Amino acid sequence: MAKQAKQEFVQHITPREENFSQWYTDVVKMADLMDYTPVRGCMAMKPYGNRIWELIREGMDKRFADTGHENVSLPMLIPESLLMKEAEHVEGFAPEVAWVTQGGNEVLPERLAIRPTSEVLFCTMFSQWVQSWRDLPLKYNQWCSVMRWEKTTRPFLRTAEFWWQEGHTVHATAEEAQEETLLMLEVYRAFIEDVLCIPLFTGQKSDKEKFAGARATYSVEAMMQDGKALQAGTTHNFGTNFTEPFEVRYQNKEGQLAYCHETSWGTSTRLIGAIIMAHGDERGLKLPPGVAPFQAVILPIAAHKGGVMETCEEAKTQLQAAGIRVKLDDRDHLSPGWKFNEWELKGVPLRLEIGPRDIEKGVATYMRRDTFEKGILPLNSLAEGVRALLEDITREMFSIANQFRLSRTKDVFSMAEMGEQVNVGYARSMWCGRRACEDQVKEAFSATSRNMPFDQTPIAPDCVVCGEAADKVMYWAKAY
Ligand SMILES: [Zn+2]
Repeated sequence: MAKQAKQEFVQHITPREENFSQWYTDVVKMADLMDYTPVRGCMAMKPYGNRIWELIREGMDKRFADTGHENVSLPMLIPESLLMKEAEHVEGFAPEVAWVTQGGNEVLPERLAIRPTSEVLFCTMFSQWVQSWRDLPLKYNQWCSVMRWEKTTRPFLRTAEFWWQEGHTVHATAEEAQEETLLMLEVYRAFIEDVLCIPLFTGQKSDKEKFAGARATYSVEAMMQDGKALQAGTTHNFGTNFTEPFEVRYQNKEGQLAYCHETSWGTSTRLIGAIIMAHGDERGLKLPPGVAPFQAVILPIAAHKGGVMETCEEAKTQLQAAGIRVKLDDRDHLSPGWKFNEWELKGVPLRLEIGPRDIEKGVATYMRRDTFEKGILPLNSLAEGVRALLEDITREMFSIANQFRLSRTKDVFSMAEMGEQVNVGYARSMWCGRRACEDQVKEAFSATSRNMPFDQTPIAPDCVVCGEAADKVMYWAKAY
């Protein structure tokens, strides 16, 4: 029975090499992160996936608070007239807006958009909340879901409704707004690299790829194991693009009215997709300890033998007291082999086995999910041992992902080289800054400009596409 069960587990996951996209879908479904729903393009997050999102939220929310931000909640509906006020914004979002046209039996005099993002609502509220320079800055964030009528959807990567946070801030000066835009990019980078163990390319988007209505957009870009890019977070400096039409003004110290400078920034449940595709393997999910719903799972071996369950319970209590998220898997109708497979599939960073022989020696036997390395930890200092291992797993997961990223990133000096490189990873090249050259890369290779790194030291004199003088260093990749 146990043997057959093991075979079933292995059979269901398509190997990454064979079909990465199918592997992703298999892992998402088998790890029980989400389910499909009768609502077009919308997923249901199940407890395990939802818990990962909660842990991402908790971790980021603390960093937002530490950098002086407060949470608010705004309506999910936006009157059409508000959405029309900023031309570029409308143009960018109109094709994917879902509309409410009726309330009860009554046809509405004005359509209401289901928020695809909330810049215009925030600006409307800011115009009521800001009067004087003393009111500034306002640094707000909201956790909510938004809706974009996507044509094709994939769990966590692109769904019609998705969960995210959107930060919106207004400042007295252009300098402060720019500072905020870069500060939040750094907050994202630190969280995603240090906690999610995903190394990033950090930089500025091209005009073509920037947010609709922004003066400048910055992004953190991750590399998935198929070499494709995943935009993990963006921050935008709007300058006064929105605050002028929305009349978000303040009286400065000299008593004159001036427009506020505005930013916004967002990350979403896409990060769960990034975790899966940056770290997972043939056995399933591999979760970074920082957002694993269970950081360690305790499996009793020969549970019926005297003292085994008691020792497992004590170990669980000890770990919980130390703030470690732990699960004691005491299901007695499943074999240890089945449980090993299941917790590997679910990506639990550390497995602890405790059986009669371990108890005799006063130890627990562990196996790391990241390296499959096995060892023992003394039971009387189990929490310290587990904590040290979890820290090491975090470092190791980042290191492995970073080695992979470096091995799949290359400088390119011709379109031929670019074509080869974007098939396996990121290409770095010189770019003249013209949109026509970006379009040509897209047309030839289905790759897009990802971002311009802050280190703009030229690697060649000429644009990789048109051969004319170029002063911009750009990363290119195929993207999710
Ligand atoms: Zn060019």
